[in-house]
Amino acid sequence: MTKNNNNKLKIGIYELTGCAGDALLILDCEKELVDIFQAADIQSFLMAKSDNIDGELDIALVEGSVSTEKEKKEILDIRKRAKTVVAIGICACFGGIQAAFLDEKEWEANFKEVYGNIKMKHTKPVQSKPIDEYIKVDYYLPGCPIDKEQFLSTLNRILRGNPPELYRFSVCVECKWNENDCLLNKDIPCLGPITRAGCGSICINHNLPCVGCWGPVEEANIASEFQLLREKGFDHDFIKKKMANFSGTGMADFFGKLKGEKG
Ligand code: SF4
Ligand code: SF4
Repeated sequence: MTKNNNNKLKIGIYELTGCAGDALLILDCEKELVDIFQAADIQSFLMAKSDNIDGELDIALVEGSVSTEKEKKEILDIRKRAKTVVAIGICACFGGIQAAFLDEKEWEANFKEVYGNIKMKHTKPVQSKPIDEYIKVDYYLPGCPIDKEQFLSTLNRILRGNPPELYRFSVCVECKWNENDCLLNKDIPCLGPITRAGCGSICINHNLPCVGCWGPVEEANIASEFQLLREKGFDHDFIKKKMANFSGTGMADFFGKLKGEKG
């Protein structure tokens, strides 16, 4: 990694299409924020400073999905300038809510229904996709928004030249640690078995089912969860909508292979 005159790594924090919740979460690290700005040379962070520079970077943290032609160019430019790219948040990692509709015709019909025949002057909207549809991503930090402790530990490790250590198990594990009764046993559709841990099973702790907002866990057995929910009487479209809600391409791709199965 190259260091500037101050011997600090150069970092850029970018926001594409999303709610800006991950950038806000970084800003919300009030106690640690001064340390972060002292440990690294923050070259670009629109939400935090106005003197932003588009130069070469050691690390780019990118929030949000790619939803316009302008953002396509932006993400390619970020990749060109950054040695390491980290996708932060569910939208950058998997597309998020705005990537729920994957069929091109379905997306175009939805767009037309909402916006009519409007012509955008500054940029052309495109079907929303996670950033790895366009560039190579080095690390993924999911969450909706990301978790503060995981963010600080990830940044700390990357600044020291180490890969981040993220949870590689599902929400069910955290749910068991928290001694919750399983909602699936009560026939409540919970996506905990296929969702990456990290949130502390916060929804189930409050008796609400997991809707998958941290995205799919590695090697998620989506077919098995689908089958289980079908056996519990939920129909194909209900399950598809539930799984496609947050995870965009992450879980909904599975349904492309299920053509013909309806219930
Ligand atoms: S309630 Fe949900 S997260 Fe908890 S064990 Fe059951 S399926 Fe897993
Ligand atoms: S929806 Fe699931 S992953 Fe998201 S916060 Fe709730 S329990 Fe955690």
